Amino acid sequence: MVTKALIEGSIKGCGKFHKTSIFPCGIFQCMKGVNRKPEDPNYDLFKLALKSTSLRLYPNYANVDWSNAAGYDPENPCTYFSTMGCRTANLADINADDPKLVQLKDGRGNISPVTIIMPTLAMQAKEKVLAEQDKANAKSIDWKEGEVEYRSIEAFMKLLDKKINEARDMLLERFDWQCSQPAKSAKFMYENGTMYGYKPEEGIRSALKHGTLAIGQLGLAETLQILIGKDHTADEGMKLAIKIETLFKEKCAKFKKDNKLNFGVYYTPAENLCYTAMKKFKEKYGEIKNVSDHEYFTNSMHVPVWKKMTPFEKIDIESKLTGFSSAGCITYVELDAGSINNIDALEDLVNYAMDKDIPYFAINVPADSCEDCGWQGEINGNCPKCGSNKIQRLRRVTGYLTGNYTTAFNLGKQAEVENRVKHNGLEA
Ligand SMILES: [Zn+2]
Repeated sequence: MVTKALIEGSIKGCGKFHKTSIFPCGIFQCMKGVNRKPEDPNYDLFKLALKSTSLRLYPNYANVDWSNAAGYDPENPCTYFSTMGCRTANLADINADDPKLVQLKDGRGNISPVTIIMPTLAMQAKEKVLAEQDKANAKSIDWKEGEVEYRSIEAFMKLLDKKINEARDMLLERFDWQCSQPAKSAKFMYENGTMYGYKPEEGIRSALKHGTLAIGQLGLAETLQILIGKDHTADEGMKLAIKIETLFKEKCAKFKKDNKLNFGVYYTPAENLCYTAMKKFKEKYGEIKNVSDHEYFTNSMHVPVWKKMTPFEKIDIESKLTGFSSAGCITYVELDAGSINNIDALEDLVNYAMDKDIPYFAINVPADSCEDCGWQGEINGNCPKCGSNKIQRLRRVTGYLTGNYTTAFNLGKQAEVENRVKHNGLEA
């Protein structure tokens, strides 16, 4: 009844023009045997959620059956997989006091993130190798075909390994500083049990040790372009992508064990960094095709937004990498206004993503509204009903929505939203 009321509220919208509410972020937990199939007891809620998504972009879909979320307590919904809205996730807690609370979600958080700008490392690696090649040429030593590529990958992996170690050191330093703060710095949280595990006699470390230390990444697609001239939409690019993600995963697993803290791989949204990092990159390296010919780096390991493909193909590609993540990720697809009336197709899409083991899935549909008359839909110029040019353009720029992406986000993310192609072929 509560879930039904919440979703109905989301569908109805806020205020006299029934606008889409931007917060709180709605997340629907999909669970086998509960709400996935017509014979499941809460299937009606899944259908209602899909209707809300088609109109309001919310809810997003969390996959309780995600393989990395295994070990939850079926008797305790506080341990069922969900995210913190944007995408941050807390998975197995190495400091859980009780084996039944290993996958506890409530009362834990992302303590700090550090993001590695991978395309810059790839350029540093490649430039080093090209300089080596020049030296070899000067001595009339010929390099074999593919030698630059091979050596660049080796140099990049070595540099990445070093940067992941530095990220760990930065996170540990920040963690110690955070733990040295008194409980009164967030008095309400600690006094009211908002943070799980807090013991006054031990200080706030007793609570923060259950949270996540996130090692993030930016621009996998551009990194692959620099190293091998193609991204992970090609098989060869995917092979290298898996090698890179395996390094992140193995190192985070080791840090977790060594430091008894929850280090995890984070697929960073980089709301501001996607733009500022690109600006610096361009100043240094100029415009390189498929690498720096945009205003932003591609979000984490996402497929570049300008690639044309069906939503199913996008899910197929990203699902090969989401399993490496343990501190949060999101996969989303862009649909056109026509999908609003096709709830069955949206259902197929969400089910497809869940069955492909995507942990957190969202669907973007155009949700513009006229601020004068309240008309809603995709508005390309002025309002089709009253002609007003006061249009609120709601878009998902990260995991949650933003009121008006043209004023709430930087030039990089604005350009990304404008470059996004619609993933057509929903009925395929
Ligand atoms: Zn209007």
